[in-house]
Amino acid sequence: MPQKRHLTILGATGSIGLSTLDVVRRHPDRFGIHALTAATSVADMERLCREFRPAVAVMADGDAAGQLAEALRDLPEVNVRTGEAGLAEVAASPAADTVMAAIVGAAGLAPTLAAVEAGKRVLLANKESLVMSGRLFMDAVARSGAELLPIDSEHNAIFQCLPPERVRDLPGAGVRRILLTASGGPFRTHSPEMLRDVTPAQACKHPNWSMGQKISVDSATLMNKGLELIEACWLFNTTPEHIEVHVHPESIIHSMVEYVDGSVLAQLGSPDMRTPIANGMAWPERVESGAEPLDLFALGRFHFERPDTERFPCLRLAAEAFRTGGTAPAILNAANEQAVTAFLSGELCFADIPVIIEQTLASVTVQPADSFDGIMAADARAREWARGEIDRLARRSLAT
Ligand code: NAD
Ligand code: MG
Repeated sequence: MPQKRHLTILGATGSIGLSTLDVVRRHPDRFGIHALTAATSVADMERLCREFRPAVAVMADGDAAGQLAEALRDLPEVNVRTGEAGLAEVAASPAADTVMAAIVGAAGLAPTLAAVEAGKRVLLANKESLVMSGRLFMDAVARSGAELLPIDSEHNAIFQCLPPERVRDLPGAGVRRILLTASGGPFRTHSPEMLRDVTPAQACKHPNWSMGQKISVDSATLMNKGLELIEACWLFNTTPEHIEVHVHPESIIHSMVEYVDGSVLAQLGSPDMRTPIANGMAWPERVESGAEPLDLFALGRFHFERPDTERFPCLRLAAEAFRTGGTAPAILNAANEQAVTAFLSGELCFADIPVIIEQTLASVTVQPADSFDGIMAADARAREWARGEIDRLARRSLAT
């Protein structure tokens, strides 16, 4: 029996956090919980604390932490903490050997880096942190000896199709290219005119996956694939020229690796994040995840298309930001987060999300991304610029 793993789950109340806890629930002998964290959802967190009895529960928001401490007065063994310091502390705590990084967006960067610097097994769902800080992040992994395992289904698939000792040496492994699959999102067949009128509810209704709101909108704009392209470049030490996005609307093949001898290895499975999560948690072993076994007879056929970067420019913008380097990917990510928030609150139309990102990338000066503070400063400048552009667009549409 392998040693029991003790987890900190950053973003425990989210879609990935809850799927992770479902795998933990199935294997109480193999996995225990050291800490759970969330932003503001007190009731969800109370319920999880009563079930999993973590030593520490962190609410990023101070008021929410006060409410949780009050709600858990009868459970003094759960220590309630708050703020960035609380998140960094549970990410680096010696009481946890494994950290699930599942906070959404740039807010995940500091605690994920803290887990990396403490040399943990880091299960990386929070792709935004790697996109923002690529080289800094990977250098920290190399320095600390952290064990970085990809949870994003595509990257987990690629990881599974590579020899474990050659994950960052694709030429040495005989890899010609990576075939990164994409569902195409809910608007894959929409015309440009139809894209102007789509609503947040439509964008959040993904055809195959059930996910948080932000990543659902990213899937609809194809920014998710753009972020994943950058994520793959850093994880597998390669460039966009060696990655080809294949739209595969069934979301059964989670990605593929093509070797120089013509072999193409793929990882398949039902679209259920518990599979890559269980893979990372138990690696190099396997545990039952709760995902439905694949029924290929019921599926019958697979389809593939090229992505349309005219209708979905975000994929192109992300590849360009990676090539520009420095803080460009952090600027791209911050502008995207602002634009998605504005779209979800009804301030910005869907088709203007890439417009805001492109204008922000053209306006905010790119600098070397060699320090955490420099990256966060670029993030702040890009958010401010994008916010101004969103307001300008809103005023213009009021005037017409
Ligand atoms: P979600 O919105 O469902 O959950 C986000 C979690 O982060 C919640 O627990 C929330 O409380 C916490 N959080 C939000 N803002 C915070 C802040 N400022 N400070 C601290 N905590 C905060 O998101 P999700 O769909 O679970 O996605 C989480 C991450 O995993 C994202 O980076 C996403 O891109 C990635 N991911 C998700 C999926 C999926 O299927 N959902 C697949 C691949 C990758
Ligand atoms: Mg993915």
